[in-house]
Amino acid sequence: MTFSAVSSSLADADPEVAALIESESTRRRSTLQLVASESVASPAVRAALASDLGDKYAEGYPGARYHGGCGVVDEVENLAISRARGLFGADYANVQAISGSAAGQAVYAAFAQPGDPVLALRLMHGGHQTHGSRANFSGRWFSPITYRVREDDELIDYDQLRDTALVHRPGIIVAGSSSYSRHIDWAALRSIADEADAILWCDAAHLAGLVAGGAAPSPVPFADVVTVSTQKVFWGPRGGAILAREEHAPALQKAVFPFLQGGPAMNSIAAKAITFAEAATPKFAEYARAVVRNAQELSIALAERGLRTVSAGTDTHLAVIDVTSSGLTGRAAAAALADAGIVVDKAVLPYDTAPVADGSAIRLGTAVLTTQGFAAPEMTTVADWIARALTDEGARAEIKDQIEQRCGN
Ligand SMILES: *Cc1c(COP(=O)(O)O)cnc(C)c1O
Repeated sequence: MTFSAVSSSLADADPEVAALIESESTRRRSTLQLVASESVASPAVRAALASDLGDKYAEGYPGARYHGGCGVVDEVENLAISRARGLFGADYANVQAISGSAAGQAVYAAFAQPGDPVLALRLMHGGHQTHGSRANFSGRWFSPITYRVREDDELIDYDQLRDTALVHRPGIIVAGSSSYSRHIDWAALRSIADEADAILWCDAAHLAGLVAGGAAPSPVPFADVVTVSTQKVFWGPRGGAILAREEHAPALQKAVFPFLQGGPAMNSIAAKAITFAEAATPKFAEYARAVVRNAQELSIALAERGLRTVSAGTDTHLAVIDVTSSGLTGRAAAAALADAGIVVDKAVLPYDTAPVADGSAIRLGTAVLTTQGFAAPEMTTVADWIARALTDEGARAEIKDQIEQRCGN
């Protein structure tokens, strides 16, 4: 697994920060990383991030900047745009959004007015706070309406989604989530959006890398607009991108700049260009398939140990695991696993009865673990570690040692 070593110049210039970076590298290298939104940036991406491009001011777009000296960065941005369009087969791409959330803000800015109804998956059912949560601007400035997963099979209830869309007539229907592990029926959503005369926005923050690697169905042919994070199941930098149909280009272009952002991070845009090229390789396709296979095998092995996956399995890189059988809350389970060197997020079940701060679940993702060199046959070992760490407090230190040896450096 490739992590950047702290350069000697940084260690000389600021030993305090250098030591912290070193500690974090050691932590990441010696423990099992199962946070579903994380991956490992490639060496080329890291090099681009640290380059001179980070110093360049380039407000505006290629060929229409507000600063001098933008000839080279225009080429960089055009390259990132053309690679994004090629990778996803999209008419239009904007690579300036500083993050997935910022890309989402541009979608709201382009397609909604304050107060408009926006229809999205409930947060507890796998949605994301930027899809209308009260704590987020999206819930404060727009009128959130939600769709749900069914209580019995925990799959999206497309009938309820359609009924709700036809009653409330939202300007935007949002699909794509943070912890829904199943494929989404893009064709069904397209037809509901057409019936309701709504914009279909796919928030592919998690999904985009799998789509790029051919391991998940693409929303691009169906959605009006697709937003992407380049650091989730990608080998990319922390950043966002927007893909859309040509007709939406003018609105999205203005939404990102000047409505929301100032100067784009040109170093990150170069890193995104690298990410899109890397994601077009057979090596990345193989990786994306291995990530999904690992998640599926892990889900099966955990079920055999009494830990069921929400919606009875996964089609993606992530799984939400019901930890009720261990007698722990989600929060306590995440803490117990941390003691055993297993890093996960606490999570909630769609119809959880525990307080939200505790939850009854954990969310696991296999993007980093796959980079750490784990393949499908080893998922039974990982499941053993998880199941034992949850129920046997005395075993946690030993598991931590085993993981440190397995992951070692
Ligand atoms: C992670 C995530 C985001 C936010 O992405 P950032 O790049 O962290 O801003 C937005 N939407 C969904 C569904 C996500 O899972």
